[in-house]
Amino acid sequence: MTHDRDCPLCRSTSKTAAKQYEGSAIGTCDRCGFLYVLNPESDTASESQTEIDQARHTTIPAPRRRHYYISNLIEQTVGKGAEVLEVGSGYGGLGKLLEKNQHTYLGFEPSDIRSKIASEGGLDVIDSIFDPSKVDQSFDAIVIDNVLEHVLNPTELITDAAEVVSDEGIVIVIVPSRYDLRRLHPGWNDDNFWIPAAHINFFRPTDLRRVYSKAGLRMIPFPCSSIEGKQSKDVLFKAKSLIDSTGYYPLSLYTYGTKAR
Ligand SMILES: [Zn+2]
Repeated sequence: MTHDRDCPLCRSTSKTAAKQYEGSAIGTCDRCGFLYVLNPESDTASESQTEIDQARHTTIPAPRRRHYYISNLIEQTVGKGAEVLEVGSGYGGLGKLLEKNQHTYLGFEPSDIRSKIASEGGLDVIDSIFDPSKVDQSFDAIVIDNVLEHVLNPTELITDAAEVVSDEGIVIVIVPSRYDLRRLHPGWNDDNFWIPAAHINFFRPTDLRRVYSKAGLRMIPFPCSSIEGKQSKDVLFKAKSLIDSTGYYPLSLYTYGTKAR
């Protein structure tokens, strides 16, 4: 395997291999400190993991807790009846919730099986990687939920998203964080963080802020008001959002970008 991937954030060719894990070389950019897989097998977001997926869902699943937070954030920032685009719409759990909450939804999903299940469930989903030339309108909100860690060029993806968001709109990005405190538990780290066959970019808050900035967006954490519910995860996330507001981000990065004005 070759170590020929340049830094996806600053394009530097100079890097230092730091770790071998499950056949992948993980290294750090010598110029900007970004941590990434040096020899990814493919652009994992556009390679659909069809066999694995087939067993998981046959219809659109119930929304996850974070889908409620995303829906609340959209309502609180851009208002009711928003036009929402999701990049990597998966099985459509968020899309279904947004439609129920009177928003308009369009998804892009490169996995055939996922986009089929979402479409059969009544959602408007294009079976493709996100391509801004395929949309002929601007959106109030763009959602990129656990996608950025999978793609070869995360900066390009956010820049493409910024191209189709309205001036007052938001680009929502949720991505794992290198500074997630749960990484202190080795089992969690191996199961949820070091997955080089799927995760090829490892963001610190400062890295994600730079990606937003290159796309002309200012990064803001999810506000406490977007977190609802009384389940233990909701209580944890309320506490997290209070800490996020200090710029620390102790768990995953739950953020959104607005056009820097
Ligand atoms: Zn770099």
